[in-house]
Amino acid sequence: MNIKRLEFLLTEKCNSRCIHCQGEHSPERQGVMKVEDGLNYLEETTSVAKLDSFMIFGGESMLYPERVIKLCQKAKELSIPEIELITNGFWGKNVDRARSLATQLKGSGVNEVLISVDAFHLPYLPLDYARNAALACAAAGIRRVRWNIAILESENASNDFDKQTRRIMEILAPLGMEKNVNKVWPQGRARRTLTEFFPKQSLEGKCPKVETALVNPTCVTMDSRGWASICWNLSIGNGKRQPLSKILIGYDWKNHPVIKTLVEHGPKGLLELPEASGFHFEENRYIDKCHLCKDIRKIVKPEYPEMFV
Ligand code: SF4
Repeated sequence: MNIKRLEFLLTEKCNSRCIHCQGEHSPERQGVMKVEDGLNYLEETTSVAKLDSFMIFGGESMLYPERVIKLCQKAKELSIPEIELITNGFWGKNVDRARSLATQLKGSGVNEVLISVDAFHLPYLPLDYARNAALACAAAGIRRVRWNIAILESENASNDFDKQTRRIMEILAPLGMEKNVNKVWPQGRARRTLTEFFPKQSLEGKCPKVETALVNPTCVTMDSRGWASICWNLSIGNGKRQPLSKILIGYDWKNHPVIKTLVEHGPKGLLELPEASGFHFEENRYIDKCHLCKDIRKIVKPEYPEMFV
């Protein structure tokens, strides 16, 4: 395996319920990664891989700032060069608290903070919160602080969402911070609430991330239940049931019938799996290959309990 990046989905709980959320995170979601589990995953991974970067995201990871700080401190001790955090900046509500948290994040080794602001977050979080969190991070000396924005079509598109996000960026422009622009994927809540923005794509052919996600994964994401995922809800084992280093070293796509099929035949190939015989396939129901891939995997999941989150 060529793992260069370790990510922690620290919690699926969030203090917002954005309509574009691909993880369907919300205040009702439960579960947060235990610090001892996270420390173990960091040690296990760095014992078998030289990581370039480590990232914590959610849900809203800063609902648990103590855990974020302890885990980033460990990443720093393990000399992982890039230590990143994604947050919606709600903790900027109180300027003094924001300054204190930003200083602790800096001290724990965080060198990049991505603060999510766009038309989707605005109904839940006043811009001042994100602005104060960003200013606190910059004042604390965190090397890179960027706006993390989600767009549907493009930054100059005329749909109401992208137009509003553009206005938000104009308001925040005086802070002079960079943007990290992400296209909304037709996954999770987005697929249900923003369907008209996702033109149907061909379902034929290979998995779009066959090399970097399946054949030679460069990134593994751990969640609060211990699942080690290499793609959307596609796990290769559980780090609470066996050492993560063993899972990573033992990974070979040819040994996983579902991943082998995905590599060799793409998502439509999953339809040929005996376990998928009960799957009722209607081509026009699917937006893209990943939509189909995730749907079929739900059907074959009982046969491969270790593979699906
Ligand atoms: S969801 Fe399936 S088809 Fe999409 S990138 Fe992941 S493995 Fe490939």
